This record gives sequence, structure tokens and C-alpha cells, in this order.
Amino acid sequence: MVEGIETCENIDAQAGVEYYNGILLPDLVDAHCHLELSYLRDAIPQGGGFTAFARDMGRVRDIADRTEKLRAAEDADRALWHQGVGAVGDVGNGSLTFGIKRRSPVAYLNFVELFGLAVGDAGTLIPVMTDGIGTGMRCVVTPHSTYSLQDAAFRSAVGYGPCNRPLSIHFMESPAERELFEGCGSLYEWYGKRGLEIDFAGYGSPARRITSAVPADRDILLVHNCCVTEEDVDIILSHFTGRVTWVLCPRSNRYISRMEPPVELLRRKGVNIAVGTDSLASNTSLDMVAELRALGNVPLEELLDWVTLNGAMALGLGERFAGFEKGSASGAVLLSGVDWDSMALTDASRTERIF
Ligand SMILES: [Zn+2]
Repeated sequence: MVEGIETCENIDAQAGVEYYNGILLPDLVDAHCHLELSYLRDAIPQGGGFTAFARDMGRVRDIADRTEKLRAAEDADRALWHQGVGAVGDVGNGSLTFGIKRRSPVAYLNFVELFGLAVGDAGTLIPVMTDGIGTGMRCVVTPHSTYSLQDAAFRSAVGYGPCNRPLSIHFMESPAERELFEGCGSLYEWYGKRGLEIDFAGYGSPARRITSAVPADRDILLVHNCCVTEEDVDIILSHFTGRVTWVLCPRSNRYISRMEPPVELLRRKGVNIAVGTDSLASNTSLDMVAELRALGNVPLEELLDWVTLNGAMALGLGERFAGFEKGSASGAVLLSGVDWDSMALTDASRTERIF
């Protein structure tokens, strides 16, 4: 009961009560974003496939100057806040957006990402971590993926810490990731053309690489999961005692490769699912409701857990954001445009922050 309200009868008529037509939610959580890439909206064509996208990212990274990059990131931060996002798992390679995040009402967990087959170890990220932690930001070093770091670099990113914070690893976004470990596929061929050799194929698969290198009690977000099999899920679940969250970014998958995440497999396995927008390099907007619509025919109640409770728990913010309990730091978000007969989202569904 809200303070000052004595009874639920005729609640609309009572002083201090405002009526909204929709579903009232706690803050939404975007479990996977790259705010610093917001300037890349429309820079890479859709549907070119995963390896072409990775190649294009290298080509377009310098198309904007610092001011343009900051303006785009600031706009994206504001758009997230106004639609009701209160916390973000945000991946970054540098400290460009730290100032924006410090001023933002959104709570960011910064995944400072180690990336690149030529990178030796996570020591290269010390300046970014020092800048972030020194100015009061929540930061943790994480490996980018199982295909983009040699063995020692991957392990050093896992061990850098702070180890009481989760890792966030891009995982099984395309068939090429598994094929790389088998000596075939588009990533393997691209690396070959650039004269790059990998030293981690001996792990056998991306899932085995993760379970070999990440301590069992570490919390982890696995992002994308388009090509995971039931065997991959079992390998991961049988290793980890820490919280594993399977983060789905369906509109980014469509944008890059026209692929869909295996929603029904993950639901059947009963795993923790959360949702991310990914970046504007591979999405036309950062819109959590649009992500939910793209996940298909899933009961609304379940979808809403994925974008609230599960996202908050994945980022270690469960107590702050999981609901309206006393002591919660969450605001209130209105989901409108729901079809009340089928209890499903419609094309008109949207969220907005009430406070
Ligand atoms: Zn990503």
C-alpha cells in the first residue's frame, strides 16, 4: 500500500492516485549494449552475414569524430532512460562514454572488453579500468568472445577482475564460431587470408573453451546464442555454479545475418534468459519492446521477467532493481498497447518512464 492511501476501494478516486492504462513495471534492464558504437547507425548494410559484419566494423570505426561519437552516445543514453531502462550491461573498448554514463541516471555495469588476436593480455586495459574505477564507475574486464582472443589473452581477461562481477562473452552468434575450432568456415578463411593463426582450436568448441578457462563459480552472461545446441547448453550448465544468463538480442541477429536465437530450446532447458539491444551498429533503434516482439510467441509474463528481474540479477543489481519492494531503487515504467484478450504485445506496444 502506498503511503497515504488507506484502502483499495475506489482507488482511482483517491487523492494522489493517478490512472494509467497499461502494465506497471519496474525499471527495464538492457543486458547487452555498446553505447560507444551509437554513431554507427546505418553505417553497415543489413544481412551481409557475420564475418562481413566483423570485417565492416574495422572499416567504419573512424567515420565520425569524437564530438559526433559523444553526441550519438548521449542521445542513445537518453532514449534508453525515457523508455524505462534503468540499468545497462554496456560493453566498451575505451573510456569515451564514461562521462556520459557518470552523469546519466541509468546504472551502467561497464564490461571493459579485451579484443583482438594480436593482443597479448589484459594489461592493455589498465588505463581504461583506472579511469573507470577511479571515477566511481562499476567496471569489469571481460573477453570479447571465444574466437577473437588467443589463449593467454582470453585467460588474462577472465582473471583480471574484479572477479565478484560477471563476465559478458559474445557466444555462438554464428556457425563460423564453431567451424573455426574445426578448421573450416568463413572466420577460418578470413583469418587465413590475413595470415592469422589461432592457438585455441584444441579446446574443441566455444563451449568447451569457456568451461576450461572460466572458474565455475563466476557469474557469466552469454550473449547471442543463435547457434547453441542442447549439448552446448548442457556443457555450460554442468560446469557453472555461478549464475549463467543467456542474453538474446534478436534484432541485432536479424540485422547482421537474418538468424534467430533458439528461444524454445532455452525455454525448455529452463535457463535464465535476459534481453539486450546490442548496438546501433547492428540495430535500427535501442528499443526493448521491439526486442521482445522479435522473440516470437512467448507468454508476456515470461518476457517481462526477462527484461526486468533476469536482467537485474545478471548484472548483480537484483536488490536494487528487481521490483517495487521497499528499498528498491527502481522507478516505474508503463507498458501500453497490450492486447488484453490475448495478453500479448502488439505493434502499438511501447514503454515509457513515469518516474
Ligand atoms: Zn555485442
